[in-house]
Amino acid sequence: MKKIVFLVLSAFILLFIGCTTDKDLNSSSEKSTTAKLQDPVTIKPDVIVVGGGLAGCTAALRASELGARVVLFEQSDKLGGSANTAGGSISGAGFKMQKEAGIEDSPDKFYNDFITMGGGEKNLNKVIARKHAEESGNAIDWLQDYVGVKFNGKVDSGGYLTMNTNRVTYTAGGAASGGARYFLEAIYSKLDEFVKKGTTQLFVNSKVESLLFNKNKDVIGVVMNGKEYKAPSVIIATGGYGYSEKWLKEFNFTNITSNDPNTAIGSGYDFARSAGAALDNMDYCSCYGGSVPVSGFQASLRCNINYNGAIWVNTSGERLFNEPVASSMDKRTVWRTTDQNIVYIIVSEKMISDDKPLFSGMMSNSKPFDNKEKLNELLSEGKYAFKADTISELSKMINTKNLVNTVTKYNSDIASGKDTVFGRTKNLLTFDKGPYYAIYTVPYLMMTAGGPRINADGQLMRADGSKVGNCYLAGEIIGSANVAGHNTIGGIGHSLCTTWGRISAESAVKNSLVLKK
Ligand SMILES: Cc1cc2nc3c(=O)[nH]c(=O)nc-3n(C[C@H](O)[C@H](O)[C@H](O)COP(=O)(O)OP(=O)(O)OC[C@H]3O[C@@H](n4cnc5c(N)ncnc54)[C@H](O)[C@@H]3O)c2cc1C
Repeated sequence: MKKIVFLVLSAFILLFIGCTTDKDLNSSSEKSTTAKLQDPVTIKPDVIVVGGGLAGCTAALRASELGARVVLFEQSDKLGGSANTAGGSISGAGFKMQKEAGIEDSPDKFYNDFITMGGGEKNLNKVIARKHAEESGNAIDWLQDYVGVKFNGKVDSGGYLTMNTNRVTYTAGGAASGGARYFLEAIYSKLDEFVKKGTTQLFVNSKVESLLFNKNKDVIGVVMNGKEYKAPSVIIATGGYGYSEKWLKEFNFTNITSNDPNTAIGSGYDFARSAGAALDNMDYCSCYGGSVPVSGFQASLRCNINYNGAIWVNTSGERLFNEPVASSMDKRTVWRTTDQNIVYIIVSEKMISDDKPLFSGMMSNSKPFDNKEKLNELLSEGKYAFKADTISELSKMINTKNLVNTVTKYNSDIASGKDTVFGRTKNLLTFDKGPYYAIYTVPYLMMTAGGPRINADGQLMRADGSKVGNCYLAGEIIGSANVAGHNTIGGIGHSLCTTWGRISAESAVKNSLVLKK
């Protein structure tokens, strides 16, 4: 009888307060819940988590598992953030699946890879890089053993820079878009145990506006919908600033598009600034090349930048790289550092074939577009594709000084069998017959790489070395560059969420116990 009353009561409370229920949780990455917030918080939280992406959900779960009362506020109408669309990779050192595959690894090896592949110790925060190297493997084991995430068992070096040791693994959904949903679904169903117990509440449609401070500038809660919510510890897990033109233009790009969800508005960076925190590595940002900005800031169309025979030129019409062999890091550097971040892809009509798509959507599994249809559409818009019978006319259309010289030199190099500028040896096709096309491209991003400074406990830090009391960070906001330096290592995004979701939850729970004494 007692149990029935409890269940009925719980169901009523969940319905009334607009909490995300079992059913909603499991389907929240697919459909929006319409929960509307009135005055919902019915528990006195030990920990408030701001943001309900993979990092916030991990932090909420770990804090709940440790016995804390947890309230999570998510601004949008569903949980999951970027992980709703991301691939399923994650990296770490010394996790069980790695050992089972006979791979020997250690935190020291992982840390050394950060140093050698990230451009040296000067590019990262040594303290948190070490902590990440030490804890990332445990986070994967926890996901597998406690949370019940299904993995596909594959362990490799990931799709970006090749690490010296294989330490990237994948959910059962693999590396393709949607793979990260396996993390979310397992975490949701585990979190639901605590929601049902009444120790954890998860709120959607709940945008935190600011942090609450005491007179010492310690964080004592948050302000949401104009109302104060207090807690001994606050975890900021609001993601990167990949959908904030304001932050991207302040630190990184003149021209940029975003493939981040529109929830990555960088509010955690504003919160960190308001707490006087130091911001590190903000001038470094990971990005990809080849976005055609037909929908403005929202990325929606990609040009195949390695198209048969294509060359890349800047706004002066000069070539930028040995195109066919450019690694993901090289491409990033080209689009990140070139004048105004604008790169024209130059191709001739005879290089284009029907069976090889020149354009596709943003996701790895997006359907490619028909070449003729898409080119005609872009040409008629007259902004991002240009067509001319001669290189000289094309050069005038895109207003470049040196395109004619560049192409003349390139043609003569190819005729003599040697690209004297960049040493290109692949796909050497001359531009000897028009019409020619120039496609205007800019970078796009899926993740930002700088972030507010933290210590090994995940606690927010000021430039003078003082700690921002009671405030911890998890996820993309930490900045992959602060942990791994100037590179992209496979699975680092999800590793930042789960490793630091756990670390910050543990610190936050400990802190709340100390404050309650
Ligand atoms: C298309 C795509 C593919 C990717 N593929 C991979 C991959 O294969 N492997 C990998 O490791 N990484 C990948 N990443 C990166 C990785 O998915 C993200 O870095 C990671 O999911 C970020 O999680 P997060 O919880 O830190 O932030 P987010 O997912 O951005 O979640 C933050 C949440 O906080 C909420 N929020 C923000 N501000 C507020 C506020 N003021 N109040 C309340 N809530 C707020 C947001 O609405 C959001 O739900 C990919 C990213 C994208 C976009």
